Amino acid sequence: MSIQNEYLNGLMERVVKRDPAEPEFHQAVREVLTSLAPVANARPELIREGVMDCLVEPERTIKFRVPWEDDKGNIHVNRGFRVQFNSAIGPYKGGLRFHPSVNESIIKFLGFEQTFKNSLTGLPIGGGKGGSDFDPKGKSDAEVMRFCQSFMNELFKYIGPDTDVPAGDIGVGAREIGYLFGQYKRLSNEFTGVLTGKGLTYGGSLARKEATGYGLCYLADCLLKDGGKGFEGSTVVISGSGNVAIYACEKATQLGGKVVAMSDSNGYVYDKDGIDLPLIQQIKEIERGRIKEYAQRKAGAEYHEGCVNIWNVPCDIALPCATQNELPLEGAKALIQNGCFAVVEGANMPSTPDAMDALQEAGVLFAPSKAANAGGVAVSALEMSQNSMRFSWTFQEVDDRLKTIMTDLYHNAAQAAERFGMAGNLVAGANIAGFLKVADSMLAYGLV
Ligand code: GLU
Repeated sequence: MSIQNEYLNGLMERVVKRDPAEPEFHQAVREVLTSLAPVANARPELIREGVMDCLVEPERTIKFRVPWEDDKGNIHVNRGFRVQFNSAIGPYKGGLRFHPSVNESIIKFLGFEQTFKNSLTGLPIGGGKGGSDFDPKGKSDAEVMRFCQSFMNELFKYIGPDTDVPAGDIGVGAREIGYLFGQYKRLSNEFTGVLTGKGLTYGGSLARKEATGYGLCYLADCLLKDGGKGFEGSTVVISGSGNVAIYACEKATQLGGKVVAMSDSNGYVYDKDGIDLPLIQQIKEIERGRIKEYAQRKAGAEYHEGCVNIWNVPCDIALPCATQNELPLEGAKALIQNGCFAVVEGANMPSTPDAMDALQEAGVLFAPSKAANAGGVAVSALEMSQNSMRFSWTFQEVDDRLKTIMTDLYHNAAQAAERFGMAGNLVAGANIAGFLKVADSMLAYGLV
């Protein structure tokens, strides 16, 4: 679909021309500008006052060298990033990703998406993202610790509890956050809520670990109910087996669904009896192993090479929870053919644009990541609140708040789509609702 506003079309061209080697960033911007065309048509001052131009340019990009020593004494040099995208409604907030695929385009697309997602939560958090092309896979704890300390030696200059609050993402979990927080604390001589996703003994929030996966299912539940469906009695396929996928599996099962497949970057497992989640957790969270071990240990389960083939597994509900562009057009076609009635995105931007179009055209209930996976960052914001108060809420209190946030978020996005003549289009609704709060704040500040 083209962008139905001449100015935004030109802006898109300028974005591509300015940074031609950033396809993921272009993809994220194109989707948002397409949704925003009716808003820009109705409110020309957004263009006149420079809001649209500022929106697609990060406030600041920090790029740095991260040298570290492995266990054999060899020196490695990785690249670190922090893109502070937009602080109109609060301190920059967003995860750190450690994965060999990380580059400026990936971090920019994630930071851009985060701006809208964070706004959608209704909480006062701006958008940012960071990470490194460091691969934690196969590294010892000591190597990961030395890397994290070196990464923080540089990053600490740019972050702070009221400036920029990083968290986890792919490759950054409780272990990494612990090393990063410890180093920040040492360098700054301050104990503050500068990172979220912390351990429970040093300022972490109950339910933060579960939040993205649980929130995903709470939002899916709203979407399914509106479509006359539900998790009860449905077959669910979840790609990925990291933090998002694991807790999506737990909640989808609690809500009455049967999860029959999960994956990692090498392949997927199919278990017709329903995934044994404690076994997945043992393999992935404790042993840091590969998913194929599940089939070796669980009678009746099958392992298939090639993660993208997971979409050929017949299901009612698909929850892509692995990574960007993991659900291509062929996958979407297979889901549609097999009667899948809902796709709810747990990873960031997991569907390619043509897959997203095909699913929506076929009438599949569809919730985009910036709405559906906002539960993680929402509970991160609740962790910040608890840290500021030097107080902590119970699991139940945080979980209740999360449920309310996801329900409100769903209705706000659905209403925004309706208001701009795109009823039922949650992609447009999420982009518009997330945008308006940020844009009105930017307008209030004038050109800064
Ligand atoms: N990385 C997560 C996301 O994509 C969480 C960010 C956070 O908690 O700050 O939203």
